Amino acid sequence: MHTDFDEHLKRSLSQLNIAVTEGQLSKFYRYYELLTEWNAFMNLTAITGQDDVIDKHFADSILLSRYTDLNAVESVIDIGTGAGFPSVPLKIIFPHIKLTLVDSLNKRIRFLDTLISSLELRDVSTIHSRAETLAGNNEYRERYDLCVSRAVANLSSLSELCLPFVRCGGYFISYKGNDADEEIKNAGRAINILGGIPERIEKTEIPYTDISRTFVIIGKEKNTPKKYPRKEGTPVKDPL
Ligand code: SAM
Repeated sequence: MHTDFDEHLKRSLSQLNIAVTEGQLSKFYRYYELLTEWNAFMNLTAITGQDDVIDKHFADSILLSRYTDLNAVESVIDIGTGAGFPSVPLKIIFPHIKLTLVDSLNKRIRFLDTLISSLELRDVSTIHSRAETLAGNNEYRERYDLCVSRAVANLSSLSELCLPFVRCGGYFISYKGNDADEEIKNAGRAINILGGIPERIEKTEIPYTDISRTFVIIGKEKNTPKKYPRKEGTPVKDPL
């Protein structure tokens, strides 16, 4: 029992109608401990204080559950997951999810492997790859109900990195800040080329903070043409 930590997280998640169990609370505390331990020798996050980790990493990640029914989602892929955000907190709350974590930096994958084994999370795989390369592999292409991504690239580039992984009828959901309107407008063409259709934009705040979060919810309507994503680096250097 870590009273301050537990009370803060419980209070935030109750705003999302989530009643967190003792087992889940101890997983989140262990996550917080590992994140700060590893961050002392490896750059994982600039957010390290206990309250900030709860608000800006854990509650922010789980905020998505207010806008999409995660009980109805089976498979999730997180592109550019870094230290596991946003999908590992989602997995702790929704343990049925089959999760694939992708990052191009191997040291982050080493952290994630330790985290997953320490938290005893099942059905989670980690992949050290750039999204551009992995999306060409039929084991991963158009296989997922949901692709999530936070703080990786602008929405046009990110759509090229993420939409190829989503099955038709599935969703790509991007976590953006409060000033995303221009970016969303500019991404329309790319989303269309890649087989997506903008469905909803949800603007909200992290519970008990004034930090804004915008979810851009994009449906997968048609298959992504085989030529996308283009070669490594091109989606960011030269957005569609
Ligand atoms: N999503 C995490 C979060 O919100 O805390 C990490 C964000 S961090 C700013 C961006 C991460 O994306 C880094 O870990 C980086 O290695 C990864 N990344 C950037 N481009 C990528 C690509 N093309 N394919 C896979 N990972 C990528």
